[in-house]
Amino acid sequence: MRARDGVYRPRADLLAGRVVLVTGAGDGIGRTAALAYAEHGANVVLLGRTRTKLEAVFDAIEAGTDTRPVVVPADLLHVGEEAADSLVAAIRGEYGRLDGVLHNAGALGPRNPIAHYPVQAWLDVMQVNVNAAFTLTRAVLPLLDVADDASIVFTSSGVGRTGRAYWGAYAASKFATEGLVQVLADEVAEAGRIRVNSLNPGGTRTAMRAAAYPGEDPETLPEPSAHMGLYLYLMGPDSRGVNGRQFDAATWRSA
Ligand code: NDP
Repeated sequence: MRARDGVYRPRADLLAGRVVLVTGAGDGIGRTAALAYAEHGANVVLLGRTRTKLEAVFDAIEAGTDTRPVVVPADLLHVGEEAADSLVAAIRGEYGRLDGVLHNAGALGPRNPIAHYPVQAWLDVMQVNVNAAFTLTRAVLPLLDVADDASIVFTSSGVGRTGRAYWGAYAASKFATEGLVQVLADEVAEAGRIRVNSLNPGGTRTAMRAAAYPGEDPETLPEPSAHMGLYLYLMGPDSRGVNGRQFDAATWRSA
């Protein structure tokens, strides 16, 4: 709940007993969110591309919490229906439930004008940022549908809300993500068991941001931990009934 000063302070056991899937959990914002979810009691399914990074997150969670994380190495570039179904079977087998998904993994792709944008790079960015998120979501919906209070959070971007030159497939993929959020949120609204929202973290000190803005001083940017109030709020029961909305980490505190 929000305190009188407007700052959200999640309960220590906010996510106790819940199971949350985080994509791109090995680094950047996803790593920090996975740790924050575990610190608040969730058993976290750590999906990502680089096994060693995921194992380091796993070790940190095991050392710091009593929760039971699992590592799922998977390159979203190659995740289709079969892999998504296997993931669901694995989650069902391990925990028998799923309460939330943070679609966080993202590919930046090249920064080129559309006229010179490499076609394969376009397809790859759309696959990682949109198609894989759709495929995973479609596969996990039956599990989420039997949870008491399930949340799906999709990660957007400023250029997913207003297009900007040279952001190519990345911007288009984030617009598509916003569209997916709106369609799905409308579909689940009546039953009210699942909520679906989009979250724009805004400029954040990560490897992706450094790749996008090589001349920028990272010290001028917030660290991923600065956004965890919003990441926890959307994943936990305090956001029950909040559906189909766009959130911005930069302005949320005062919202
Ligand atoms: P990072 O590049 O720091 O981390 C992204 C994570 O996603 C990494 O763990 C990476 O794995 C994983 N990943 C990338 N591609 C794949 C793939 N094909 N399969 C599986 N995992 C993959 O990015 P951020 O933390 O900065 O970004 C997180 C999200 O926030 C993204 O969706 C991004 O678009 C969004 N965002 C970020 C902003 C920022 O300023 N940082 C601003 C606006 C939006 P690995 O470590 O193995 O490469």
